[in-house]
Amino acid sequence: MTDETMLCPSAQPDQPDARVFGVQTATADQKRRVAYLTKSLPVTPDILALSGQAAAAEVLRIAAPCMRGGCTHYQGGGCTLGQRVAQMLDPVVGSLPRCAIRPDCRWFREQGPSACVRCPQIVTNAREGSDVRPEVAFANGIAPSPQ
Ligand code: SF4
Repeated sequence: MTDETMLCPSAQPDQPDARVFGVQTATADQKRRVAYLTKSLPVTPDILALSGQAAAAEVLRIAAPCMRGGCTHYQGGGCTLGQRVAQMLDPVVGSLPRCAIRPDCRWFREQGPSACVRCPQIVTNAREGSDVRPEVAFANGIAPSPQ
């Protein structure tokens, strides 16, 4: 695994070589948490259909090759989103989740276990139900306007 081939763990379903590695679930107190799949699966129309009315990135965690300079979060040779997740959020689990993409995950490669114990609270497209503050999701704390 080289820097060029690392995976973004918060990708969109239409990115090249996108794979599903987690599904959003709700805890008893209604917090959204990722259930990690034992192996990642290619994004297919059948998998996308499971999202129903929601956008796939609201209910699935999807990995794809990191876009590096093509992504606003990639600065100074690393992922600032993974950095903010590791530094600004509270852990939500006490040990590393079993995660199928860990060997190739950029957040893990750069932040180590600090990213993984916070990762289950991440919703890539959070319309509702995410605990993640805007200043974590966006470098300037401001979400871009919908297109
Ligand atoms: S940060 Fe950790 S738990 Fe999250 S996708 Fe990467 S390896 Fe998996």
